[in-house]
Amino acid sequence: ALPVSSECKVSDMKDFIVYHVEVLQCPCSTARTASIKEKVLELLHAKKTAFGDFVIRDFQDTFLSHNVEYVALCDSEIPGVEKKVIDLTSCSLQIHVFQVHTDGAGTEELDDDNISAASHWLLPSADFNGLWDTLVYDDAVKLRLLNYATTTLMFSEKHVDSNVITWNRIVLLHGPPGTGKTSLCKALAQKLSIRFSERYTHGQLVEINSHSLFSKWFSESGKLVMKMFQKIQELIEDPETLVCVLIDEVESLTAARKSSMNGIEPSDAIRVVNALLTQLDQIKRHPNVLILTTSNITGAIDLAFVDRADIKQYIGPPSTRAIYTIYISCLRELMKCGIISPTHQLIDIRALEVTRFMENSATFSSLKLYNIAKNSEGLSGRTLRKLPFIAHALFLQGCPVTLESYLEALSVAVERQF
Ligand code: ADP
Repeated sequence: ALPVSSECKVSDMKDFIVYHVEVLQCPCSTARTASIKEKVLELLHAKKTAFGDFVIRDFQDTFLSHNVEYVALCDSEIPGVEKKVIDLTSCSLQIHVFQVHTDGAGTEELDDDNISAASHWLLPSADFNGLWDTLVYDDAVKLRLLNYATTTLMFSEKHVDSNVITWNRIVLLHGPPGTGKTSLCKALAQKLSIRFSERYTHGQLVEINSHSLFSKWFSESGKLVMKMFQKIQELIEDPETLVCVLIDEVESLTAARKSSMNGIEPSDAIRVVNALLTQLDQIKRHPNVLILTTSNITGAIDLAFVDRADIKQYIGPPSTRAIYTIYISCLRELMKCGIISPTHQLIDIRALEVTRFMENSATFSSLKLYNIAKNSEGLSGRTLRKLPFIAHALFLQGCPVTLESYLEALSVAVERQF
């Protein structure tokens, strides 16, 4: 049993931590999950210890090298628990073996004008593989969301009476544009389909494009909402399928209501919003559904919607620390592809903090990058990931380029951005 004393601190909980290991099985492999798990466990026991997350891609074992692309220990940095050496031989490990679907997105057309009302993916999808790791936030927002969603699905599965213990299945991420909200929802859906791959044989992500739904064809939209939800309902009826419904930019619901107040097609607009809300209320009764929503304008979200959302998480622009990590990932990619050469060791933020930002030959370039990160504060994640491209396109020619000149160009590109 878990310790229940009020004195119980996070550090007391560390023995109850389950470390998740994700194993990507090769697309053509037909090996049994149990056999792969057994081999992965052997591999982890042989490795003995870990310090934070890791990914193994090269295997000496021929069975693993034929059947597995990678083995990754994920999300081991649980907040409140000091970063410690994990004893892989004795800790609780949960191994998730999965294969990705490579079919990409399918779209549901709204009408003859080819406005797409929804896109959908079979999960886990190759489109979202690795997306979770590319999103950088300062606090443990990703882990909190994952734990929330995991608990929701677990409570539903165990038929916990929601009149006794209340929880909901609607998550709302809000904040400025370009801060990774939509990507985070998609990455979360992918993560859940991997974590629950033994419980659910299929995962589905349906992304409803509320913007196009509400932008013009109000008179048609009511019918289309119903049609779309009929399809979703069909997916949900299979208890072996985990269905994540993503509704982007829910503020367009409010816009629809407002336009009705201004006298534009009043009844139609309200009908559509109400149809959507009613449908959401219906599907959220099912244990295998999770509804993920995003909004760029916190103040303008429809109240009816805010009330329905259980987790409302603000997602803001990244801090200097996060910006630095995003830049490092971009520069490492450019080195991997030979665009920046010779390759250069850039120091992770934590190691840089350990050196207390002391300048020496080993930290020189990293400190320069850190300064650029400081100057980039206020820019959205989306802009940050574009800047290394802009830096090359505008201020550098040819390939390869030295790290030094790339940093110069990046610095100018940042200034220009402001
Ligand atoms: P939003 O839905 O908030 O407008 P998106 O999910 O469309 O944002 O973000 C677009 C892209 O910007 C992401 O795919 C990602 O590459 C990048 N991005 C945004 N925020 C971050 C972040 N915090 N860390 C890393 N990349 C980010």
